[in-house]
Amino acid sequence: MKQKLIVGNWKMNGSLAANAALLQALKQGLPAGGKAGVAVAAPAVYLAQLQVELSGSSIGIGAQDVSQHEQGAFTGEVSAAMLKEFGVRYALVGHSERRQYHGETDAVVAAKAQAALAKGVTPIVCVGETLQEREAGQTEAVVKRQLAAVIHQVGPCVSELVVAYEPVWAIGTGKTATPEQAQAVHAVLRAQLAAATEHAGRVPLLYGGSMNAANAAQLLAQNDIDGGLVGGASLKAADFLTIVAAAQ
Ligand code: PEP
Repeated sequence: MKQKLIVGNWKMNGSLAANAALLQALKQGLPAGGKAGVAVAAPAVYLAQLQVELSGSSIGIGAQDVSQHEQGAFTGEVSAAMLKEFGVRYALVGHSERRQYHGETDAVVAAKAQAALAKGVTPIVCVGETLQEREAGQTEAVVKRQLAAVIHQVGPCVSELVVAYEPVWAIGTGKTATPEQAQAVHAVLRAQLAAATEHAGRVPLLYGGSMNAANAAQLLAQNDIDGGLVGGASLKAADFLTIVAAAQ
């Protein structure tokens, strides 16, 4: 079986003390020789703390965003090279909260993915439809449009992406896509990747949207669900560890 990947997205949560306690619990609770890949995406100011706390651990460090620019007059932005200096392995790009509240377009998301790849940071490209789009029968068209922009931009590097399907209506709402609904969209994304690269099978396709300790196993059992992007439940060590255990 392909190795699964579970990524926690802490969003704008945490403190030095709370992070230290959570990371300690994760390090202690992860099974030795566990097969699933595990990472946590923290607010940028805490990446230095993660670099220290996670040194020697198998838990990867993730950022929640990355600038599309290399350097210069972009106040508030953090470049991929800077992330790399703090041991960052993954950067979320195009999370729906960035698209919705920060006006990130498909083109910006694609440029961010490219900027991350250029510095050896793996972009986790988030795609997903709103409830209105789902009800209008536009799910497939929306996720394909979002992913197409990235595929077009990164060209032959497409096989180095991680893709996360996160239906917007399921994020932070407690409404999870059914395993069948999620699998159906993942199959569409896999086919789209397969048209772009012969290595589509090795692109991890994560599901995100109210994944929790109770529903993770069923979601992760689907053919094209290679892991999870976990928001709320990643802040509770016991829940996150249960999800990781479901991915072994
Ligand atoms: C997310 O923020 O990527 C997410 C999936 O959140 P939640 O698990 O809380 O729905």
